[in-house]
Amino acid sequence: MNIQAIKGVKDILPDDMPAWQHLEATARRIFEDFGFSEIRVPVFEYTELFARTIGASTDIVEKEMYTFEDRDGGSLTLRPEATAGVVRAVIEHNLVHTDPALKVYALGPMFRRERPQKGRYRQFHQVDVEAFGFTSPTVDAETIELALAYLDACGVRQHELVLNSVGDRHCRPAYVERLRQALRDVAPAMCADCQRRADANPLRVLDCKVPEDQAAIDALPRITDHLCEGCAAHFGEVRRQLDLLGIPYRLSHRLVRGLDYYVRTTFEVTSDLLGAQSSVLGGGRYDGLVKDLGGPDAAGIGFAVGMERLALLLPPREAEPRCDVFLMPLAAAALDRALRLQRELRGAGLAAMLDPEGRSFKSRMKQADKLGARFVAILGDDEMARGAWTVRDMARSEQQAVPEEKILDHLKEKANG
Ligand code: ATP
Ligand code: MG
Repeated sequence: MNIQAIKGVKDILPDDMPAWQHLEATARRIFEDFGFSEIRVPVFEYTELFARTIGASTDIVEKEMYTFEDRDGGSLTLRPEATAGVVRAVIEHNLVHTDPALKVYALGPMFRRERPQKGRYRQFHQVDVEAFGFTSPTVDAETIELALAYLDACGVRQHELVLNSVGDRHCRPAYVERLRQALRDVAPAMCADCQRRADANPLRVLDCKVPEDQAAIDALPRITDHLCEGCAAHFGEVRRQLDLLGIPYRLSHRLVRGLDYYVRTTFEVTSDLLGAQSSVLGGGRYDGLVKDLGGPDAAGIGFAVGMERLALLLPPREAEPRCDVFLMPLAAAALDRALRLQRELRGAGLAAMLDPEGRSFKSRMKQADKLGARFVAILGDDEMARGAWTVRDMARSEQQAVPEEKILDHLKEKANG
């Protein structure tokens, strides 16, 4: 039996890359247009970082993390999401201290031990955006605007923005208590997960997708009816600005998100083209997280886009191979000259190639076609005798003889022209 990839982990093959490179290049372009800089943080961290930020009784920490013992006995975890590591780095390098308003984005793989299915993998990729030091609701609206601008620039059309406020440490504890009370009566008739969460983490009950539980959940108290004055005003302003910008959204009091650190604004973008795994992007505000981890009292807000799901929303993209010059040394004695010319062309920044296997003329012409070669430069016995290459312009189907001493300049000029 040949060794295969780990279950739930996908290879991204050369044919997939045009789509991925498009998504990554678009991320860099759009995020930088909005004033964000790239940051790269490690794919593994001390386990405690995730336990402390994401929250001990969340699905991720309870059952989805890849945690292992290091050789010195320490506990390490492959990152299940990016925010925790970015916040750690921001504190460790004093980034919010030196630049009170810090805007960063990161791209890379995340790891969660979930049940693999379409759009749900054990290694998947996110592009992640985080802004630190902003408390204004304008930044909530702008962050959402950015998320949608990115999807739009990628070419995603059919999607819906879902919006909620989960309150803050002034109003949420009382709401959670109210929820816990209400669940005491109804939870025993609900699914096993809900029964377990009803007391330990009642907000998670709102995430339940079991059809039989939906009626009971819809009758539960709603966070948006119990926001404190500050949170209600903040949420009202976020909504007003989204209206102002012409960004449509659907309110959902059940959008609590799977991580404990969120406060106030939470949002998600879903697409019914994705089937059961409908969420392509999720985010929210996390004021307090930086301070909880020992940093300054800096507000935070961000979102993460799932790249695999994003790729599923877009039509496949064809590769665009680049070959400026395909060299064809046909005579045995022509190879050395062709190798030197290839090196000179590459030195001049051109994509130059030849067939190292020395196949037939016909099969080399086929290769040149497949590579999308713009020019083919032929050096056979006749050309050697004349001291001139035959250069074929593939788009125009024209040929001309170019003397040996002019060939480099000629090809440079043609290819750059
Ligand atoms: P879901 O509800 O689908 O489990 P989530 O709330 O766990 O998503 P987040 O933690 O908010 O997701 O991550 C942001 C985005 O990352 C999601 O919207 C999704 O596109 C993507 N994502 C999350 N988990 C996976 C996974 N296991 N495989 C592929 N993409 C994922
Ligand atoms: Mg999840």
